[in-house]
Amino acid sequence: MAPYEIRVIGDPVLKQRADDITDIDGKLARLVDDMIATMYAAPGVGLAAPQVGVQKRLFVWDIDDGTGAHAIVNPEIVESDGEWTYQEGCLSVPGLSWEITRPNHVHVVGRDLEGNEVSFDASEFEGRMFQHELDHINGVLLVDRLDEDQARQAKRQVRELMLGLGEQRPVSGRLSLR
Ligand code: ZN
Repeated sequence: MAPYEIRVIGDPVLKQRADDITDIDGKLARLVDDMIATMYAAPGVGLAAPQVGVQKRLFVWDIDDGTGAHAIVNPEIVESDGEWTYQEGCLSVPGLSWEITRPNHVHVVGRDLEGNEVSFDASEFEGRMFQHELDHINGVLLVDRLDEDQARQAKRQVRELMLGLGEQRPVSGRLSLR
């Protein structure tokens, strides 16, 4: 069983800017291990600390490219260019996804769990993952990235999701009155 329950849209923890990490220590390493286990159990390709209720600037990922799971502390996007449209989903908005256009390529800097500086050049799917997870530690969800039409549609879908009446949720054993 995964160590954490993933927070879903409506939870205020997802709307706050997370704090910089000042201590990279054994406690943080254990948090990362638990986040990776939670991500694999979901399953997902990335998970940010606020999604497990922890207000720290940290996320983990494994985009299935054979390099395994990674973590980055205090990440920042220092450069981005291009444009790429991709059908994006989120573990905190389960069952829903939208075509979202964002920069294609990003240059990300941060620190690893030893405190060393690390940097990544990423584009397409990997670049998208970095942007999505970085949004999470800034309190931004993919529903905040929708265009007007998508946002109008999403309002209803998200409300249904929060009420537990979404198509993805089983409603057996419960009567729906409407
Ligand atoms: Zn997400």
